[in-house]
Amino acid sequence: MTERKDIKSLTAEELGEDLATLGLPSYRTNQIFGWLHQKNVTSFAEMLNIPQNIRQTLSERYYIAVASIEKKQISCYDDTVKYLFRLSDGEMIESVLMHYHHGYTICISTQVGCRMGCTFCATGKGGFSRNLSPSEMLAQIQTAQSDNNIRIANIVLMGMGEPLDNFDNVMKFLSLVSCEKGLNIGMRHISLSTCGIVPKIYELADRKLQITLSVSLHAPNDTIRNRTMPVNRKYPVNELIKACRYYAKTTKRRITFEYAMIDNVNDSDECAYELVRLVKGMLCHCNLIPVNNVTETHYRRSQKKRLLQFAEILEKNGVPATVRRTLGSDIDASCGQLRGKHHAEQ
Ligand code: SAH
Ligand code: SF4
Repeated sequence: MTERKDIKSLTAEELGEDLATLGLPSYRTNQIFGWLHQKNVTSFAEMLNIPQNIRQTLSERYYIAVASIEKKQISCYDDTVKYLFRLSDGEMIESVLMHYHHGYTICISTQVGCRMGCTFCATGKGGFSRNLSPSEMLAQIQTAQSDNNIRIANIVLMGMGEPLDNFDNVMKFLSLVSCEKGLNIGMRHISLSTCGIVPKIYELADRKLQITLSVSLHAPNDTIRNRTMPVNRKYPVNELIKACRYYAKTTKRRITFEYAMIDNVNDSDECAYELVRLVKGMLCHCNLIPVNNVTETHYRRSQKKRLLQFAEILEKNGVPATVRRTLGSDIDASCGQLRGKHHAEQ
């Protein structure tokens, strides 16, 4: 028997072409696509208006990707929910659902693990297992929506993994999730975070999508960045910034620079001035985050006073900056932390 195909990773057009070869008319494609993307079914048996013989044929040729809830933690400070999802092959990934005044935002994973090895990151410490399919990215959103009986308004690709290291699947996910016949979450409601894979930033820019690009900078020079982010040895700071300037100019979208403040590593006044020189004049904004404590690292978060002083230097020199509040800090809501713990407990 040939291997079954991942039906939820097909666009409406691809599904239509496939189903036409089985002799199904286009209204069936619309019905099936609707069940998969809007009604969130996890089996063909639930497709009630599809005749039994067609459901049987579908289940012989296709499978429906799922993300089942393995573990769930709810923060006692706010409404943040952290999920550990199990995929069909038993791999585990994390997503975090946050409730802001303007609606629900979900932070999803794009890979099982990550090969970038940033020294402050729990996911990086765990190594890489495999890429996620577009359907597995969708399934995280769909399961969280059904579990809470809500509609999610915003998506951030900031969970486990490096989205630009899984470029084709992430691009396909973006087109599926924003499609009118699907979850219909517009590109303007989606942010993608990268550690800085330079050639892919150019490629993304040329697609002129309306998404927000976040760049995890975390250091203003190669000396510090080489130490904390190995990807910098391949794509150094100046090349990364050049690519970011190109991105901002091409898409006319404001870039967010993520900067995790680590005590005595990247939080000096000097670092702040260096950061100003680096990004000055670019359509951008800096997000300062106190680094999350991760077991097995020796990093400590910067003092609140230090963060505010750093932000003030940026602001006074014309670089917009915010100090981000941390949601769900009691539930390991930093990527890779829950999965790491789960593995350690087994
Ligand atoms: N791989 C992508 C997206 C996933 S990581 C990237 O690196 O951008 C999502 C964000 O969490 C990144 O900005 C990353 O730098 C940050 N991050 C990872 N570990 C962290 C920690 N211990 N404290 C604060 N931020 C962290
Ligand atoms: Fe990967 Fe991002 Fe973690 Fe770095 S910070 S190891 S790129 S997930």
